[in-house]
Amino acid sequence: MAEKHKSTRKKIMATEEMKKIMAEYFYDLDSASKNNDKKVAWCSSVGPAEILRSLGFYVYFPENHGAMLGATRMATDLIPYANAVGYSPEICSYLTSDVGAYLQNVTPLSKAYEGIESIPKPDILVFNTNQCRDVQDWFGWFAKEFKAPILGINTHRGVTDVSDTHVNSIANQMEGMINPLEKISGNTFDLNELKKVLSLSRECSNLWKEVLDTAAAKPSPLTFFDGTIHMGPAVVLRGTQKAVDYYKLLLAELKGRVKNHEGAVEEERFRLYWEGMPIWGRLRDHSVLFANQKTCVVASTYCNSWIFSAFDAHHPFTSMARAYTELFIVRSDKAKEEYLKNMINFFKIDGIIYHDSKTCPNNSNNRYGMPQRLEKETGIPSLIINGDLNDLRCLSDEQTKTNIEAFIEQLEEKD
Ligand code: SF4
Repeated sequence: MAEKHKSTRKKIMATEEMKKIMAEYFYDLDSASKNNDKKVAWCSSVGPAEILRSLGFYVYFPENHGAMLGATRMATDLIPYANAVGYSPEICSYLTSDVGAYLQNVTPLSKAYEGIESIPKPDILVFNTNQCRDVQDWFGWFAKEFKAPILGINTHRGVTDVSDTHVNSIANQMEGMINPLEKISGNTFDLNELKKVLSLSRECSNLWKEVLDTAAAKPSPLTFFDGTIHMGPAVVLRGTQKAVDYYKLLLAELKGRVKNHEGAVEEERFRLYWEGMPIWGRLRDHSVLFANQKTCVVASTYCNSWIFSAFDAHHPFTSMARAYTELFIVRSDKAKEEYLKNMINFFKIDGIIYHDSKTCPNNSNNRYGMPQRLEKETGIPSLIINGDLNDLRCLSDEQTKTNIEAFIEQLEEKD
C-alpha cells in the first residue's frame, strides 16, 4: 500500500451565507408557530412543497429535523423512547428519533438557534409516499399528537418508465388537495402564484444540479460530505428566491475552484460514488477518513435526489407529478442501474460505496444483487458498508474503517 499523508477537506466560503439563510428559515417558522399568525405545513422531503408555499404556508420538513438529530448525535439515545410507544427499532430511525425527541421535549434547533425551544406546530401535515410508507406513519403519529389534519399522495413504486398514467394519477391527487388546503390556509389558490413558486423551484434545482455537476472535474471541487450540508436550502427553501441566490453564490465559488484546479481533497487519487443514505453522526469522521486516503467521494444518489428537472411552470401539476415520480427511489432496479451507469461515466468513478442502512431499506440498494450486476457490467468495483442513517448502534466504526481502507488498497492495486 502506498505511503499515506494526512489530507484535509477544503472549507467552502459560502457556508456562512448558508448558515444565515437557514437560521432565518427556522426563526420564521418558530415565529409563525409561536404567534399563530402564519400557517405551518409539515411536508415530507420530496412532497408537494410548491403547492404549500403557493398557498402561503410556512413549510417545515421533519426529515431535515431527523438529519439534524443524526448529525448532532442525539438520535441514538432518543430512539428507545419511540420504541417504548410501539415503533420498532427496525423501522426508519428518522421517525423513531424524531418521535423520541418530541416525547423527551428536546430538539437540536434549541442548540443551534437561541430562543427556539421546540419544533413548529403543524396546522396541516402533507406527505408523499414516493420515498416510503414510513413518512405516512411518522406524519400520522404527529397528526394525532397535534390534533392536526393530514393529507397524503400515494405514489406508484418500482417504476421502470414513468408513463402518463402514473403522472395523471399523481397530478389528480395533487389537484385534489387544493380545496382542503385552501380551507386550512385561509387563502384562495392562485395558479399564477404556483407557477411563480415552481419556476423558482426549477431554478433552484437547475443550480443545485450545476453545483453537483462541478464534481465531474478532476480534481473535484466538492465532496459528497459537502453536498449533504449544502443541500439544506434545496430541501427546505426550494421555491424561494433565497435558495436561488444562495446556489448562485456557491456555484461561483466552485467554478472558481475548477478553474484553478483546486480539489476539495488534497492530491485527489481516487473518485468514489456514495449510494444510499449518509451516516449523519459520522459525516465528519468519514470525510476525514476518505480525505486521509486522498480519496474524494465525488457524488451520490442522495444529494442528486433534490434535482427536479421535469418541473415546468407551463404545466404545473403534471410536471410536478412527473418530477416527484421520476425520483431514483421510486424506480425499478432496471431504471436505477441505468442511472448509476450514467453517474459512473459522468463523474469518472473508480468505485462505489453502497451504504446498507439498517432502518432504511428504501435507500439501500445492495440487497438484491445490484452491486454484483453493475460490477459485472461496468468493471467498477464496489464495497458494501453496514450502518444506519441515525442509529449509531447499527455501525461498527472499526470495521467500516478497515473495510474502506482495504477497498482503497484494492483500487491502488488495480491502478
Ligand atoms: S426514505 Fe428511509 S430515511 Fe427517508 S423517511 Fe423513508 S425510511 Fe426514513
